[in-house]
Amino acid sequence: MKGLRRTLLDWYRANRRALPWRATRDPYAIWISEAMLQQTRVETAIPYYERFLARFPDVQALAGADRDAVLGVWAGLGYYSRARNLHAAARVVVDRFAGELPDDAETLRSLPGVGRYTAGAVASIAYDRPEPVVDGNVARVLARLHAIRDDVRSSATLRRLWEEAGALARGPHPGDLNQALMELGATVCTPRAPRCSACPVARHCEAHRLGEAESLPVRSKPAAPRRVEAVAALVLRRGRALAVRRPSGLLAGLWDLPGGELARGERPAAGVRRALRERVGLSVARAQRAGAVEHAFSHRRLRLHVYRCDTPEGRVRLRDFDGHRWLAPGSFTRLPQGAVTRKAFDLVLERFPAGAGGSGGGGR
Ligand code: SF4
Repeated sequence: MKGLRRTLLDWYRANRRALPWRATRDPYAIWISEAMLQQTRVETAIPYYERFLARFPDVQALAGADRDAVLGVWAGLGYYSRARNLHAAARVVVDRFAGELPDDAETLRSLPGVGRYTAGAVASIAYDRPEPVVDGNVARVLARLHAIRDDVRSSATLRRLWEEAGALARGPHPGDLNQALMELGATVCTPRAPRCSACPVARHCEAHRLGEAESLPVRSKPAAPRRVEAVAALVLRRGRALAVRRPSGLLAGLWDLPGGELARGERPAAGVRRALRERVGLSVARAQRAGAVEHAFSHRRLRLHVYRCDTPEGRVRLRDFDGHRWLAPGSFTRLPQGAVTRKAFDLVLERFPAGAGGSGGGGR
């Protein structure tokens, strides 16, 4: 164990990539980076991390910000609950912890959105606490080091992986040790074609010794994503477009084009009229199809039929949304919104540039 730890630390210090969050010991910055990195590739996260910290340089700035501003900086990164939770947690840190991010994993886990992984990462990297982390990279490295052949998605195997990571973290420099495991998984012990011949811990590795590196870890197949058909419409009235805000779910707090899921067997042209009538209380005078966009979420695959609709007078009555605005189409993309909304908006504007109003391309 000692030899493995020493080798990992030496290798990490000589080979780590220079990433912006590795140039700081600021617990807040490390927390933001860990929240971003949970579902996002390093290269994608870097510009978002830099923009986020430039806009909200400390926990007070984040706590005092408007939720729309936080979601706006996050827009495009996906998994928006992370941004909502960061915002809510920053307020708790200011209110209950005098603006100091707690230094122990258990208290960190009391914050909204902070699970075992994030708590372990912040406690170990920012405060050098002997707390383990297990993400996809660490799970793969440990499953190979110990030749664990059980399904890494099962709770029993996960328990074992956390125990193995915990044993490693109970030594000097736990933050660097955890980062070494993650870095090894990201750059050497990769999912396909691990570079065992260049691996610093090859002599400690059971999977390598047994010639099983490529076949581990074992992973059960996830359920196939559910296919969902839905409609969305750029609804125009006197040159202004209707934007609606989602109150809950994965995209809570984001602005959207009104619409909704199709019923089984329902045709999109009929569905868009029904969805607008039921969910925003508007009847449609004319609906023109712009096309469809596809988007993959983690558990479902969405096909969104996009329309441009004109609506006469009539009061907006919301169901399933908690806010609405009529605004120049060019201003629509300045609201925080998800990637699929942006795709749908771009499609309808491309198909009906004039119909979307004279300033249609202005804010894009
Ligand atoms: Fe991964 Fe190969 Fe290193 Fe084992 S020897 S940890 S399988 S890269």
